[in-house]
Amino acid sequence: MTYSGIDRRGLLKGATALAALAAAPGTLSAQPARPAKGPAAPLPPRGEFIIRGANVLTMDPKLGDFAIGDVHVREGAIVAVGPKLAAPKAQVIAGRGMICMPGFIDTHWHLWTSLFRPFVRADVAAVGYFPVSNRLGQLMAPDDSYRSVMLGTAEALSAGVTTVHNWAHNVRSPEHADAELSAMRDTGIRGRFAYGPAQGMPDDQPMDFAGMARVKGDWMPGDGLLTMGISSRNVGAMSIGGAARGVLTIEQTKRDWDGARKLGLPITLHTSGPSPIRQLEEAGLLGPDVQLVHPLLTTAEERAILKARGVSYSLAPVGEARRPSAVGVIQLGEMLEAGVKVSLSTDHTTNYNCDPFVGMRILFALHQHRIGDKIPLTVKRLVQLATFDGAVDLGIADRAGSLTPGKRADLILVRTTDINMTPVGDPYEALVSLAQPTNVDTVMVDGRILRRAGKFTRLDHAKVVRDARQAAAALRERAKWPA
Ligand SMILES: [Zn+2]
Repeated sequence: MTYSGIDRRGLLKGATALAALAAAPGTLSAQPARPAKGPAAPLPPRGEFIIRGANVLTMDPKLGDFAIGDVHVREGAIVAVGPKLAAPKAQVIAGRGMICMPGFIDTHWHLWTSLFRPFVRADVAAVGYFPVSNRLGQLMAPDDSYRSVMLGTAEALSAGVTTVHNWAHNVRSPEHADAELSAMRDTGIRGRFAYGPAQGMPDDQPMDFAGMARVKGDWMPGDGLLTMGISSRNVGAMSIGGAARGVLTIEQTKRDWDGARKLGLPITLHTSGPSPIRQLEEAGLLGPDVQLVHPLLTTAEERAILKARGVSYSLAPVGEARRPSAVGVIQLGEMLEAGVKVSLSTDHTTNYNCDPFVGMRILFALHQHRIGDKIPLTVKRLVQLATFDGAVDLGIADRAGSLTPGKRADLILVRTTDINMTPVGDPYEALVSLAQPTNVDTVMVDGRILRRAGKFTRLDHAKVVRDARQAAAALRERAKWPA
């Protein structure tokens, strides 16, 4: 049995898979994977539920909000939203004292780096996020990828994130890809797997298109929870991340992006540092299938290009706020004013935690600090950006991002009776100004209750923690850290 739970004997006979293995930089044969034997525990069933008496924020402008409302869910779909719904067969979930809202949609997160917490320091450049993840990333076996993605995804769910865009730029072999996808599957989260290069891969080496095609065939479509794209290496000069993340010429970029587009895969790209937007536009490479990350240094002309081409931009507020001002400022106001699609993301959790509430709070603070009323920004708009706009960015607004009947049931309940929330007033104000992940009581993805009363319903919390600690310790030995 392998990570994908698929008989891979046939695949391994294939020349494409062997070529992909041969193309992967470095060798990991000394550390054989310990493959997952399918999900550690079956996911909870999709039943019939009704959440009664919650403060329901639908994020659907036609439906609006309900100060006291119900949400009826059956077999993974939202059936109805409104006051005093009839649902005699449904299991009742008490929503009193809770905000019921769509789960957060995190549009850029390097889940494979979650294990690096014991190695990374925020205040010591030599062991900052980029050098550490580049060095240790090249030592990762598939099982490390599994445990790291499992840890990150478990934290995502704990914080009320129901969809994650897994920005996987360390796919070192087919087994690494399967390991990351298996971890996502085993948690039950919704997500996009952005198949990337491997850390240390030469810029003149094309992306592993055969591997992408194989993953697409093996994993997509499944039950619709997982989708796929590619993580592009950096384009042009970079002042953050440096050569460790690749520095492609426009011709090399075209090679990789053309290959992705032939497979029908959307593209994501970091743009911190001097902006490649003009170059990409002149090469005809921008389109609605492109997501950029870190809007820090764009010009008005570039924002007009992004609007015209339908390109989206993911902001990672916590990490971006730590960057020196020479690298730019968080351009949320400018993006909104220009009509560019914007969404929010965590980026990584090596030296900060996943906290969508803090993400919104920082954005609001920095917007007030730098721009203020010149470009209005409400707390409600921030909650929309963290939910519905993320679904638009990832192309899944037909099934997620709002509590709309017919969509899949990805929702959370946030307790307003906790000490940091009570007595609650405006729910958006509470979410942006007061809330924290521990207030997230219940998490439902695709109609499955994955967390209830602040605890996992199936996932073995202690095992996730133990596995992560063991993998980090083993990585330390392999790396002879800190030498
Ligand atoms: Zn990133």
